[in-house]
Order: sequence, then structure tokens, then C-alpha cells
Amino acid sequence: MGVLTRPAASTDALVLRAWPCGETSAVVSLLTRDHGYVKVIAKSARQARSQLRPLVEPGRLVNVEFSLDPGRELQYLRGGGVELDPLGSAPTLERSAYLLGALELVDRCRPAGALVRDDSGGAADLFGVCDAFLRMLSSPTCPDPALVFFAFEWELLARHGVAPELSHCCACGRERAGLCAATLRFSAAEGGVMCGECARGGADAGGRPLGDDALVVLLALDAQGLEGSRGLAAEPATRREVGGHLHRFLGYHLPGYRLPAALDMLRAAKGNGSQGNAA
Ligand SMILES: [Zn+2]
Repeated sequence: MGVLTRPAASTDALVLRAWPCGETSAVVSLLTRDHGYVKVIAKSARQARSQLRPLVEPGRLVNVEFSLDPGRELQYLRGGGVELDPLGSAPTLERSAYLLGALELVDRCRPAGALVRDDSGGAADLFGVCDAFLRMLSSPTCPDPALVFFAFEWELLARHGVAPELSHCCACGRERAGLCAATLRFSAAEGGVMCGECARGGADAGGRPLGDDALVVLLALDAQGLEGSRGLAAEPATRREVGGHLHRFLGYHLPGYRLPAALDMLRAAKGNGSQGNAA
């Protein structure tokens, strides 16, 4: 009998989700740098001393080796190491929620039926955004997890070719610079900034007023993406406004989007207010 060289992959990956499988194993969905979305089975990973155990925690950046058999729905996870554990050092509720929210978003953006895909450009690009987001979110100098998350959402939209239009009214096309700032609106349905005249004319039933401070934040995200969020600051009211605009925008333009459950949880926790941390 000859020795078979079984094809395998070694790549960076983000652990998106994990499900128990059988007595001690786990099925794990990964976003990989080189092979797009991949599902692996991690044999015995739920046993205390398994070397695979650290590799199946959602939110971690890992380097993994797995089988690469196009005929199989599940690849075998063989080994690897942890590159970054964003929840490793006493994370706040807020950071955890934004991390989980990002995982949900990325998981939901998965093209239907994709198992092992080698559309290298797109996958590597999306992985790069996730990688940058996680490193920024888990950095001790991360100024504002909410703004970093908004920048991440913006980058996702940009990758789908549907980032909000900020430079012109999305209905009449006039330049924003020449419009009355006090009556500016943000129309999620129509795709971005809308002038007061168009809104009054009925172009956008569901639009919302766009405040000066929120516009400044959106412009920074547009110009610099995740990098831009590093130096940003915003009042809680501005943060809520930007979050609301982006949330509605994603609902219209990102297939399969709904508010991540993790962020719903965060909203509920803040809404209680009994801990005095309500924004
Ligand atoms: Zn207009």
C-alpha cells in the first residue's frame, strides 16, 4: 500500500460558532484567511486535555490546520494555535457584546451553501477586516468599543458595495456641502444623506434627522474605516444616533441582516439603568 498524501490547509482563522457534537467533539464554523468559510469537526475537543480545545472558542483568532477534501461537508481540524483571545483579559460586557455581535454579522453574511470556498480575494479581505477589528477591540487603548464596532459595520457594507452615500443627496443628487445642514436627513432605504426638500417632497418616508455630530462620525468612518475609529470620540446621544442609522441601513442593504442578539442584550442591560451605567 502506498502512502497517501492527504490534502490539508494551514491558515489563519476566526472562530465564528461552535456546536457540541457527540459526547466530546465539536463542530466549528470558521472564517479563514485563505479558504473562506469552512466548517470543521474537532474530535474530542471538549475533553479537558484536548489540544484542540483552545481552538474552538468563538471570537478567537487562531492558526489552524485542517483537512481539505472538497467532497466533504466537514473538514477535520488537526491542530493549531491561538493567535488572539479578545475575551482573555477581563472584558467588559460592552466589549463582549460587540465581539459577539460582529461574529453574528460575519456568520450571517456567509454566502448560502458555502463550505470550502476558495474565492481568495474576498475571503482574505473579509478576514483582514475581522482581524483588524478584533485587535482594535481587544487593545487596552481601545477608546470606544461602540465606534470601533460601527466602523466594522461600515467596512462590511463597503465590502458589499453598499456603503452609505454622504457626499450628495441620495434623491436629487445635489452636493451635501450646498444643502441646508439643519434639515439634513439620513435615509436608510434610499441609501444615505437626503436633503430636507426631497424629504418634504415625500422621497423618504422612513428617514431620520441627521445631526451635525453624527454626520462628523459617519464622514470619519467613510474616509478612514476602522483606522479612523481609533481617534474618534462621541457623546452617548451621538453614538446612539449613529448606531440607529447604521442599524437601519444594514437592515435594508445587507442580505440576511438582523440586529445581533448580543447587541439586543447590551441594549437591555443599559436600559435597566439600575447599575448606573445607562448611556
Ligand atoms: Zn435632495
